[in-house]
Amino acid sequence: MKIPNRIDILGVMYTIKFENNPKVIGEPDGSVWGYTSYESASIILRKGLKKQQREKTLVHEVMHALLHEMGQFEYCADEELICTLETGIYQILKDNEL
Ligand SMILES: [Zn+2]
Repeated sequence: MKIPNRIDILGVMYTIKFENNPKVIGEPDGSVWGYTSYESASIILRKGLKKQQREKTLVHEVMHALLHEMGQFEYCADEELICTLETGIYQILKDNEL
């Protein structure tokens, strides 16, 4: 899977950027593999992740952004739902060589 520089999510162009040590307030050690800023329409991925980790993290963050752009604000903050969607959609992408 190619990681693009930007991705159109329901008409909102999200920029995809890499950071050395992305941090999110509220995470156990503050450190994450990725996060999404709806305000700046950007998806941040940790630099140095292995290919599969990077791809799965992108799928995960796109699920957050998708549900946000659909106005599903409760669901877009539901990590359990997002992780379930990430696992399923990533597997479909891999099984179909997308
Ligand atoms: Zn998440």
